[in-house]
Amino acid sequence: MTAFIHAKKGMLTQHHLTPISQGGDKRDPKNLLNVWDRRHRSIHHTFGNKPFSAIIDILRRLSNYININQERVRQWRENFLKSKGKERRRLRHEIATLVNIELQQPDVSRSLMVIIAEPNKWHNIFNGNPLEKTIAICERLASWKANLPKFKKG
Ligand SMILES: [Zn+2]
Repeated sequence: MTAFIHAKKGMLTQHHLTPISQGGDKRDPKNLLNVWDRRHRSIHHTFGNKPFSAIIDILRRLSNYININQERVRQWRENFLKSKGKERRRLRHEIATLVNIELQQPDVSRSLMVIIAEPNKWHNIFNGNPLEKTIAICERLASWKANLPKFKKG
């Protein structure tokens, strides 16, 4: 096996679009995405072990929420990034609690908290792309994978 290594991004790894634990194939190219280790870790940190279709769904719901609450989200991000130490931990907890109560969608809350409190991790996944563009890229990727020829095992 050839390991591809990048000084900053780490090793090139394979992400399973449908997790193996949920019936995804280990070797079918349809189910594999080559991602740098740093991006890979950020994907699972932000979305857990969700199938790609579920991630796209989270992004759509997230985009809805942010569009409606632009100013609040902007304010949270600003306040959070300005804060330090104990105050920062308190703020994170306070925002997360609010967001959880309001959204009632733990998967969306989790990704929103990454945008607010860990923007570097979000950036590792989607670079600096706006959400609408990110969703479009993910949709194109999904349809490209779905249209790959059938995988012959063996
Ligand atoms: Zn993975």
